[in-house]
Formats: sequence, C-alpha cells, structure tokens
Amino acid sequence: NVQNQTEFDVIVVGSGAGALASAVVAADHGLSVLVVEKSDKYGGTSAISGGGIWIPNNHHFAAKGGKDSYDKALQYLKVATGGCVSEVRLRAYLDNAPKMIKHLETKSRVRYAVAEKYPDYYPHLPGSLSGGRTLDPELFDTSVLGDELPTLRQGAPSNLLMGRIAWTARQAHKAMSREFGWRFMVMGLMLRYKLDFSWRRKSRYDRRAALGTALIASLRRSLQDRKVPLWLNTDFRELVVEGGRVCGARVRCDGRERVLTARRGVIFGSGGFEQNQTLRDKYLPKPTRADWSATPPGNNTGAALEAGVAIGAATDLLERAWWAPTIRVPKEEKPRGVFAERAFPGAIVVNALGKRFVNEAAPYLEFVDAMYRDQQASGGKSIPAWVIFDAHFRFHYAMGPLMPAQIMPDSRLKKEWLNTVYWKGSTLAELAGQIGVDAKGLEATAHKVNEYARTGVDSDFARGGNVFDRYYGDTNVKPNPCLAPIAKGPFYALRLDAGDIGTKGGLLTNEHAQVVREDGKPISGLYAIGNCSAAVMGTGYPGAGSTIGPAMTFGYIAANHIAAGQ
Ligand code: FAD
Repeated sequence: NVQNQTEFDVIVVGSGAGALASAVVAADHGLSVLVVEKSDKYGGTSAISGGGIWIPNNHHFAAKGGKDSYDKALQYLKVATGGCVSEVRLRAYLDNAPKMIKHLETKSRVRYAVAEKYPDYYPHLPGSLSGGRTLDPELFDTSVLGDELPTLRQGAPSNLLMGRIAWTARQAHKAMSREFGWRFMVMGLMLRYKLDFSWRRKSRYDRRAALGTALIASLRRSLQDRKVPLWLNTDFRELVVEGGRVCGARVRCDGRERVLTARRGVIFGSGGFEQNQTLRDKYLPKPTRADWSATPPGNNTGAALEAGVAIGAATDLLERAWWAPTIRVPKEEKPRGVFAERAFPGAIVVNALGKRFVNEAAPYLEFVDAMYRDQQASGGKSIPAWVIFDAHFRFHYAMGPLMPAQIMPDSRLKKEWLNTVYWKGSTLAELAGQIGVDAKGLEATAHKVNEYARTGVDSDFARGGNVFDRYYGDTNVKPNPCLAPIAKGPFYALRLDAGDIGTKGGLLTNEHAQVVREDGKPISGLYAIGNCSAAVMGTGYPGAGSTIGPAMTFGYIAANHIAAGQ
C-alpha cells in the first residue's frame, strides 16, 4: 500500500503545474515519485490560472511559420528581467523551455496551442515579438480523472463562458475584443455544451476543463498513467538533512507526523508566500494584504522559503510579487484579478485626487508597481484606485464581475453588489462623492480623456500606443481601440486593490534548479521551482505565461538533473 510507503526517489512538495510537470518527467526517467499537497485539492494557483506558458522558440509557432530565435529571446530577456538574473539561468530557461513542452506533448496528455496574437508585454524592447511565444492550454476532458475529479481545484466560474462552459483563452479573447465572428463562435460553444447529454445529466458544468484547470487535469491524468501517488492533506513541515545533503521531508499527513525519505532529491514546488500576512509585512511594499491576493486562501504561506532558509539557502527578490490589481466580490473566496478590462476603451483608473497615474492598459505587474509609486508620490491616495466608466462602456464591455449590460443589465446584478462591488451615480460628481474621490479632479480627467479619445492620442500615458495595449482594445473603436469618451450617464466605479497572483521572491537557485547557499554552492538534494524560487524573470513579466512557463521548465530541468545523478 503506497500510503504506507515512506521511501521514494523523489519527493515533490506542492501540486501546481511546475510540481506536477517535474513529477511526470521524473517518472519518465523511471524514478519513484511522491507528490505531497497540503490542501484537500490539488492544483494550487496553477489550477485557477489561465494556464498560459511563455515559451520562446516553441514548435507550435514554428509550425505556423512564425519566426523567433534564441538570440532574439535572450536579448529581450536580458532587459525585460531587469538585469538581475544571471545569464546562465536565462540560457537554461531558453534552452529547456521548448524541450520541456515537446517532452510533455509527446509523452504525456498535456496539450497546448499557440496564441499567435498575444504580444510580449514589453513591445518597445528589442527582441520582443508581437505574438507566438505564449501557449494556451487546449480544453481537457476531465471525466478521465475518475474519482480524482472532485479533488481537482477548479478555476473560478468567471473563467468559463456563462460561468459553466469551457473556452480557451484564444476564444475568450475573440469574444472580449468583439472580433469578427465572435457571436457564431459563442453559439457553437453553447451548442456543444448543451448537446453533451450524458454529462448534462451529471453536472451543470462542462465536462471539459479550460485554462489552468485543463493543464492541471492533464498533468494529474498523466501521473495516474505513471502510477505516481499524490497525497492530499499532507503538509510539508521540515527538511531532513544528513551530512549536508537533503534526504527527506517531515510532513503532517491527516493529522499525523511522518518522516519520508527522498533517496535522490526533494523538489519544492509549493508556491510563494502571498497568503502569509506576516511574511508580506516583512518583505513587500506597504500597504499589503493577503486578502487582496487572487490566489487560493491559505495555500501558499512560504513553507519552502522558511525551510530552505533554515538550512542556509540564499534568497532573492523577496520584495517583489507578480502584481495584479484585484476586485473583491462578497461571498467569493478570493478576489478577482483585473487583467484585460482596464484596456477596453472608455474605462479610466484614477486615484483619490481624481487623477490618472498610469496607462490603464499596461501589463498588470507594471500597473500595480505604478499604484505603489503613486501611493508614495501622492501621500497615500492611490491604494485603492478606482476604475471609472460610463453607460456606453457598461452596455458593451465586462468589468470585473459585471458582465456587459447588454447581457446583464443593472436590474439583474446582485442587489448587495451596489455600493460594495460597484458604485453608480447619475453624474461624475455624484459618483465621486460616493467613493471619496475629488469631484473636480475626476471631471477634469474625464474632460481630458474625452479629447484623447477624439484625437486617438493619450498625451499623458500613450495608452493604446503599442501592440500589447491594443491586444485588449476594441478593434471596432477608432482612431484608438483603447480610448473612448466617458460622457453618457449613469457613471460607474469599481475599487481596485494592489493585489497579486503570487509572490516572485524565494530561494535562489542555479541553472539546474538546485537551491544554492550565499556562496553560490548548491545544497545537495534540494531543488526549488515556481514561486518558492526567486523568479528567473527577475523584476519583470516578459509575456503571458511568465510564471508557469518557468515553473514547468525548471521542473523539467530539476527532474532531468536528479535522474542524471549529478
Ligand atoms: P501553485 O500553483 O500555487 O502551487 C503550490 C501548491 O503547493 C499549492 O497547491 C499549495 O497548497 C501547495 N503547498 C504550499 N505549501 C505546502 C506545504 N507546506 N506542503 C505541501 N504543499 C504545499 N501565470 C502564468 O504563467 N500564466 C497564466 O495564464 C496565469 N494566469 C493566472 C490567472 C489567475 C486568475 C491567477 C490567480 C494567476 C495566474 N497566473 C498565471 C499566475 C500563476 O497561476 C502562479 O504564479 C503559478 O501558478 C504559481 O505556481 P506554483 O507552482 O509556484 O504555485
């Protein structure tokens, strides 16, 4: 009985995408592997994510005739990562990311397609591409998980069409930006869902998982194929070290302490520390709150960081997070990230003075960085910030939990959302009064933006001035797909917090994903991947999939390194 087994070649801590990918690859090398997960669901934040992975030089893009190159990607990464990551680690990433995805697609059930139109996040930097490096998970039929389907962590209903129908990020983007043919596409998805009679009798949700849930489901099923056990409710506590080598882990499993032996290595894939308020207060800029994080409450509390430091590991980037503004919705267990909607034409973001302080369409990490900068500069006026729009916007576009009014008018919104999730005023001044924003400031800002919408040029922040901004713009809006007037009442506001989708500082690792000491020497037998390691992406967010792509790639690297017995 595997539950009584206490010795394995490899123990993987955590069950996010990087962890499960490392377990698949280790098993492919014939190693015996155990995955331990502290919560009662597997998948971590990876399961509720978009599941996108940023893989320069990937075979999908090449197969479509796309042009990318190693040198171009390296040139881009050197600058995009803020110059704080060793070149040898950047090269390890670029060498192995395309191999990792090829391995998984040929040997396991993981399947991706290229998001050809999804641009890198810093289009002004040399070596960036206007699409082709982000891969988007294909839908995955979860019925094959059998009795492990109920313990798969599910993405938020907001990731699904109408809260229940699976769609890929490419399909969601087509609908959001109202590209030609989007209505037919949506009708097709609804029809496919309705005609799945056997599954409709079992569940109101689609049998197919999408995005990060599809990725985790495909990885877990691949582990089932390899008979790799995954223990839920198993909380990693401490490393076991003998003669300077990590050779096991102390865990608490269903309320019982157990010591597990790892003959070849322990791989930490247990996420960052975003759910640990004490560590946030210690490391992150202020103000900061765990309940602004869009990650599953209670999961990622920095266990690997503390255990690594306890045995002499070096750390880096602890003051950084994968920032994203978030909106809290009553009765939802965690806030929602606001990734795309800020770029839709006709929504602006202001501080308490009623002033814009950032290009609303900026990547989410830079957006929250700007919130913190403005918080300093304005003496505490931009956390929270407010996203403001008018009735025209409200009719056509989604914002946070508010579906476009053409689908869901105000009368159908939950009553308790008024004045908790959204505020509404017949004039901008009335709205400003409700949310504590300076009315004159807001009116003056709207006046300016209306002029920018007419000319197509945002003289303050150049919104819509590059291919990344325009990715989430509305192609039907001219002259600038990211700018429209705010003129038609009633007016609306939603509160934006300085949230995150995980922290990005952690244990410092080398090009083999080995955890290193201050002197750069590896700690034998210990590996770290994903958000418990200091991000290979440094201070930046080079493109969609910059957190899970590296987590899976360094998982692949760690498993290969262990198997090679180095
Ligand atoms: P996780 O996936 O969170 O996995 C860590 C696991 O370890 C958890 O299950 C946790 O319970 C477990 N664990 C923690 N402590 C212990 C312990 N002591 N013992 C045992 N287990 C433990 N990133 C992308 O790259 N692409 C995207 O498309 C994308 N979309 C996103 C969308 C949303 C809405 C959100 C919230 C995030 C998104 N992200 C995306 C960010 C990404 O999901 C995370 O950065 C990434 O999943 C973190 O991976 P991880 O393996 O480090 O941690």
